Amino acid sequence: MDYKAILANCHNSSSEGVFKCPEDQLPLDYAKIYPDRDLETQVLGLSIRCIHSEEGCRWNGQLKQLQIHLNICAFNVIPCPNRCSTKLIRRDLPEHMQHDCPKRKVRCEFCGSDFTGEAYEDHQGSCPQESVYCENKCGARMMRRVLSQHSLAECPKRTQPCPYCNKEFVFDTIQSHQYQCPRYPITCPNQCGMANIAREDLNGHLKDSCSSALVLCPFKDSGCKHRCPKISMSRHLEENMRSHLSMMSSLVSRQRQEIQDLKKQVEELSVSSEGVLIWKISDYSRKVQEAKVRGNFESFSPVFYTHRYGYKLQVSAFLNGNGSGEGSYLSVYIRVLPGEYDNLLEWPFSYRVTFTLLDQSDPSLSKPQNITETFNPDPNWKNFQKPSGSRNSLDESTLGFGYPKFISHEDIRKRNYVRDNSIFLRASVEIPQKIIA
Ligand SMILES: [Zn+2]
Ligand SMILES: [Zn+2]
Ligand SMILES: [Zn+2]
Ligand SMILES: [Zn+2]
Ligand SMILES: [Zn+2]
Ligand SMILES: [Zn+2]
Ligand SMILES: [Zn+2]
Repeated sequence: MDYKAILANCHNSSSEGVFKCPEDQLPLDYAKIYPDRDLETQVLGLSIRCIHSEEGCRWNGQLKQLQIHLNICAFNVIPCPNRCSTKLIRRDLPEHMQHDCPKRKVRCEFCGSDFTGEAYEDHQGSCPQESVYCENKCGARMMRRVLSQHSLAECPKRTQPCPYCNKEFVFDTIQSHQYQCPRYPITCPNQCGMANIAREDLNGHLKDSCSSALVLCPFKDSGCKHRCPKISMSRHLEENMRSHLSMMSSLVSRQRQEIQDLKKQVEELSVSSEGVLIWKISDYSRKVQEAKVRGNFESFSPVFYTHRYGYKLQVSAFLNGNGSGEGSYLSVYIRVLPGEYDNLLEWPFSYRVTFTLLDQSDPSLSKPQNITETFNPDPNWKNFQKPSGSRNSLDESTLGFGYPKFISHEDIRKRNYVRDNSIFLRASVEIPQKIIA
């Protein structure tokens, strides 16, 4: 039994008031317990290991030396001498005193002030004397106490709003921004006296409201080349009323000519060029009456071309007849008109022409009986020669070729040649395939 066990037993026994032998657990007679000097000397002389041997202390010696050893034993638990209320084994004390003890003494390396460990935790990272880099990464290094002044007012990398457009910019780019800032104030380059025009509004000012900007005379499309500041324009207009008017009138006549040319082109584009004309003469009975009254009255068809780039032709009809047919026949003629492509064509005009009066009877009820006449142009006929530029309407070369007695007024009533008060006259020209191609 070691010393520790004996002490523990004695201690337990006294609190219970019953004494038992720690060896055999038999009750002891109190009267027989007495101090035994010899035995004590003997016990205190026993050789023992340190009570911290299990934690690693290798000390051993006589029991009476133990207390002295414990005063220096690296494994003995002791309170921190700074009274920080920590208890720890002696071996860990230096580390604690140096780094962890909240009551240790620390001196700030920057400001030289003394702190307890606790207070230093707070001071660290905020010491006004510590030298730090600017957080904007401008590269400057300074004591912490001047940092905020630097960041607000001195740092070249601080952000700052542009005073004109209010957008945020890094301080050292704000100057170059202001060369482009859309709200940067500018003085009118025309010296009209306007200052403080925002850059983005300048064009609008020059265009709409600058009194010094040069403007073009509103009669520029009529040919006036005058330019002057906006405010002088009304005087120019007053002084040049006559010349502006004459410019206008010549513009109008130029435009009239252009319109005529365009009309002619549109007509050319709209004429048929397939070698076939189907000419509807509507309001037939009224037109026959009119022809009777006016005598020798000729109606004209739309013009048409024999083929693309071919001969330009026109059919005419005397609804009350002419020549040998006058008064009782429908007469039909065709004539060659001066065309756009005459210089490219063979002359005289020599292709077979067929006139047809169409029977408008319903083909499902009876076979249509069209009236047809075909002729080969007489090469000596004046109108089939190449038209000359100087042709006029009284010239015999304008006389069409055709049939004064195409159909009698009597026959035209027999079938459905007139239907819904309209007749259809067809003229077709047989052009050989090789010419069309
Ligand atoms: Zn020890
Ligand atoms: Zn401590
Ligand atoms: Zn400090
Ligand atoms: Zn900075
Ligand atoms: Zn700006
Ligand atoms: Zn201006
Ligand atoms: Zn003008």
